[in-house]
Amino acid sequence: LNKKTYDILVLGLGGMGSAIAYELAKRGVSVCGVEQYSARHNKGGTHGESRIIRKAYPEKPDYVPLLNRSYELWDELEQHWPEELRNECGFLVAAPGDSPYLQDLDNAYQQHPTQHEQWNASEVRQHFPQFSLPESYRAYFDPFGGFLHVGRCLMAHQKLAERHGADLSFDEAVQSWESSENGITLKTNKQIVQAKKLIIASGAWMKPELAKYDIQLKIWRRVIFWYGEQLQFAPERFPSFVIEHQSTGFYGLPAVSDKGVKIGEHNIPFEIEKPEDADQPLTDHEEEVINRCVADIFPMLGSRHQFVKTCLYAVTPDHHFILDQHPEHENVLLAGGFSGHGYKFATVVGEVMTDLALEGKSNLPIDFLSLGRFFGK
Ligand SMILES: Cc1cc2nc3c(=O)[nH]c(=O)nc-3n(C[C@H](O)[C@H](O)[C@H](O)COP(=O)(O)OP(=O)(O)OC[C@H]3O[C@@H](n4cnc5c(N)ncnc54)[C@H](O)[C@@H]3O)c2cc1C
Repeated sequence: LNKKTYDILVLGLGGMGSAIAYELAKRGVSVCGVEQYSARHNKGGTHGESRIIRKAYPEKPDYVPLLNRSYELWDELEQHWPEELRNECGFLVAAPGDSPYLQDLDNAYQQHPTQHEQWNASEVRQHFPQFSLPESYRAYFDPFGGFLHVGRCLMAHQKLAERHGADLSFDEAVQSWESSENGITLKTNKQIVQAKKLIIASGAWMKPELAKYDIQLKIWRRVIFWYGEQLQFAPERFPSFVIEHQSTGFYGLPAVSDKGVKIGEHNIPFEIEKPEDADQPLTDHEEEVINRCVADIFPMLGSRHQFVKTCLYAVTPDHHFILDQHPEHENVLLAGGFSGHGYKFATVVGEVMTDLALEGKSNLPIDFLSLGRFFGK
């Protein structure tokens, strides 16, 4: 690091911290970001080739305005980067016809009308013969959906932040920080840095900070499976998807490398105490659940996955994000609890957190993501 005093410090340079550092630097703010691991490490929540992006949002209609802005900002970012960042292969959501999940999606589309198609199981087969859905299932197709090349996006945010003057420091762990009227003093294992404000974007590592205020952030270990099949599952002929099957939720993304098509399970908790506990062998249950889904829905994939990786969800009590000021310190902001569905929002999170830090407010409707909801406000 070449200077020790900044306007804003960013703690954690995973998906969100990198996007925040980029937006701050782009606006000419002097920013320092500190990351305990390497630039694109695989110990947190932002690795594994790809992330689904979609406008179909049954999780809560309130996310849709944020998503719309997020899309604009991804497109803007892509203009400054030589590779494709977002692929519009489409997104399919399918579930038993009477599923509340589909009802919630219907509601979201009613509140925020967005182009989409509704298909029955045989119409899905006509468009995408790779899916073998039970006849009782219904599906929605989101033509805006697809995926983000997450490794490239992360690199774009970091490299472009540096190009705009951000100091990003890797392999440097923040050990403590203090907030006073004069600003922030942050200690790492290498140095002491000062700034006017601090933005914490520490993913699953935010758990102890939130616990001080009785907010329980749960850390879920997730397993991502890759199945070798490439050709039939390339983005030109296969969409990203979420399928509710046998009361749980599976997601998948087209093959973007020779590892093949990627599939994971979203809903069944596998809670761990701390992020470092993620590295345990695959359990029989985790394997059985995914094998059953693949055997039922994608019989052409066979039952053997070629490659497995673990990844972390940082899950809030209501599965919605936290974008707010720290409960105790005015000059500290929190961006966390992305609950396994946050990456598609990284660009808008960058914008919102920058606005909160610089203006004290955001013009986007983010009240539903404030901490007050946990304190009954
Ligand atoms: C398997 C899986 C699939 C997913 N699929 C999707 C999807 O399809 N679509 C979607 O939108 N989202 C998806 N998500 C969610 C999304 O990827 C995450 O919400 C998002 O990437 C989280 O970013 P983050 O910056 O909050 O956390 P992280 O990327 O984990 O970053 C936090 C960073 O803070 C650093 N840090 C913590 N403490 C310190 C310290 N003391 N000092 C220095 N550095 C520190 C950590 O090392 C880490 O790099 C998925 C997540 C997983 C795990």
